[in-house]
Amino acid sequence: MKNSREDNQEESLIPPVLPTYARAPIAIDHGEGVYAYDENGNRYLDFGCGIGVNNLGFCHPTLVKALTDQAGKVWHTSNIYRIPGQEKLADRLAQNSFADTMFFTNSGAEAVECAMKMARKYHHENGAPERYRIITFEGCFHGRTLATIAASGQEKLIKGFGPMMDAFDYVPFYRDMSRVEKAITHKTAAIMLEPVMGEGGIKPVSADNLQILRDICDKHGILLIMDEIQCGMGRTGKLFAHQHSEITPDILCAAKGIGGGFPLGACLATEKVGRCMTTGSHGSTYGGNPMAMAIGNAVLDVMLEDGFFDHVDQMSFELRKGLMTLRKKFPRIIELVRGVGLMLGLKLTVAPADFVAKAMEHGLLVVGAADNTVRILPPLIITQDQVEEALGKFETICAEIEKELPEPISDEE
Ligand SMILES: *Cc1c(COP(=O)(O)O)cnc(C)c1O
Repeated sequence: MKNSREDNQEESLIPPVLPTYARAPIAIDHGEGVYAYDENGNRYLDFGCGIGVNNLGFCHPTLVKALTDQAGKVWHTSNIYRIPGQEKLADRLAQNSFADTMFFTNSGAEAVECAMKMARKYHHENGAPERYRIITFEGCFHGRTLATIAASGQEKLIKGFGPMMDAFDYVPFYRDMSRVEKAITHKTAAIMLEPVMGEGGIKPVSADNLQILRDICDKHGILLIMDEIQCGMGRTGKLFAHQHSEITPDILCAAKGIGGGFPLGACLATEKVGRCMTTGSHGSTYGGNPMAMAIGNAVLDVMLEDGFFDHVDQMSFELRKGLMTLRKKFPRIIELVRGVGLMLGLKLTVAPADFVAKAMEHGLLVVGAADNTVRILPPLIITQDQVEEALGKFETICAEIEKELPEPISDEE
């Protein structure tokens, strides 16, 4: 009989932490603002933010105070009681967005699950239960639950986990979104997209294309769902990325930056859509618990201060300008600079994983993405000096990579 890991050592080679990640060989011990420190005392400029989560950097005093104050009061009560922090956060998010109502979750995937359930229920309540399918885009990412991997449809996410829920129709990430219309059938419930694709390689959808999608949805009576889990919460210089356009979604998913590092997500909706989610139709044990709400409200306290988004715009301008200069200097490494606000990507000619590893050696944390892209997601509180420090590191990294590239083939020999 096996009683402990020790008894089982001979046959057990798997580490106690399920090895689903290819982890970098560093462990962050603590952080301060834009800087992370590993166990050996090495300092890193964190331009990854734990993948777009620590939007206010490490240990922001407002967040630390909110968390410690709340820790001495109450952590959890259950959604069978009123939670005043939820009412406050929901009211503030509603005041600053299209939304009239929202459901709090612990993660992004749960927010997407809520959005998909809501889209189905909306049509069910409106006498069209046959409308259950959702149109999604090639390269999209919506989470790792069975429904959200099915929503993505990407081979690397779904392989081995079939059969997949047959509820999604996939379309290319069109340059001209009017082509999406031909994928609509009498079964279509919604179109779901990331206004700026994150994992897919930092690909923004233009305001014109968002307008086209909004018009298509209105014409066919279907819902527009925006997954702003990565691009929302100030990342692009507005509270939500679609606010750069004139249109609004029917449902929006937020997470990552909304809790500044504390697990929190939300599914926001208009009244018209939210009304279908009647008592008993959805739930979560932890979703929106008092700890998460204290921190979520503190995140908003910081972001809604005068000038916060202007600062994001300014830092974006400086960083982007520097990166464009680097692209000119290293055209053999950087193919494109793209993105919005402080959600930027470098499309590379070399493997992003090598770039990320080299950056780490130089004390800079960045994150890989699909389409040969390195994601640059600095804390929104970065200063001009820190932008320059990062640009210096980017330059050093590119110079080193260039040295390792084969000699360019010249015609004149
Ligand atoms: C990270 C992410 C998710 C999933 O969020 P989890 O908290 O990991 O469940 C969903 N959609 C987008 C766009 C994301 O970036």
